[in-house]
Amino acid sequence: MKVGKILIKEDEIRKRVTELGDEISRDYRDKTPTLVSILKGGIIFLSDLVRSLSILHEMDFMSVSSYNGGTESSGVVRILADLSINIEGRDVIIVEDIVDTGLTLDYIRHILLARHPKSLRICTLLDKKARRRVDVPLDYVGFEIPDAFVIGYGLDYGEKYRHLPYIAILEPDD
Ligand code: 5GP
Repeated sequence: MKVGKILIKEDEIRKRVTELGDEISRDYRDKTPTLVSILKGGIIFLSDLVRSLSILHEMDFMSVSSYNGGTESSGVVRILADLSINIEGRDVIIVEDIVDTGLTLDYIRHILLARHPKSLRICTLLDKKARRRVDVPLDYVGFEIPDAFVIGYGLDYGEKYRHLPYIAILEPDD
């Protein structure tokens, strides 16, 4: 497999992430939200997003597995590493790289809701709407993308390509 067509360029991502940061800063003006990033895909997005926030905030991480290194969802979500902060009474924002079937996020959302945060919102860079199997409320969306397997900006294929500064489509070799 190889890097195919570039779907979202570096400067488009930068512009949109800044807009999302501004929007979140406005919505959480007098609050100190906890941004929960889902490892490993969400890490690049989170690190850019927090630098465009003008409000105080905290970060925490959670690691789950839903894919087994391939391109198809296994339908099974496992928690590999849990949060280190107690989110009870906090304003939590889940920061995801991509929502595909929605299974992963639906699972994480219910786990976090059971811990009684004051509020819970979801911010995703990419939304692959056509593939949705569970309806998950998305509060902040960077880009809606077509049904293709994408790599770059945190998103991997077999742990590779996360470093690409743009989002590209994964293509088969010639
Ligand atoms: P879902 O549970 O919504 O089907 O999938 C969520 C997770 O699957 C994402 O957090 C991501 O890790 C992975 N995923 C879904 N679509 C893609 C894609 O197009 N490219 C990559 N690299 N990962 C994806």
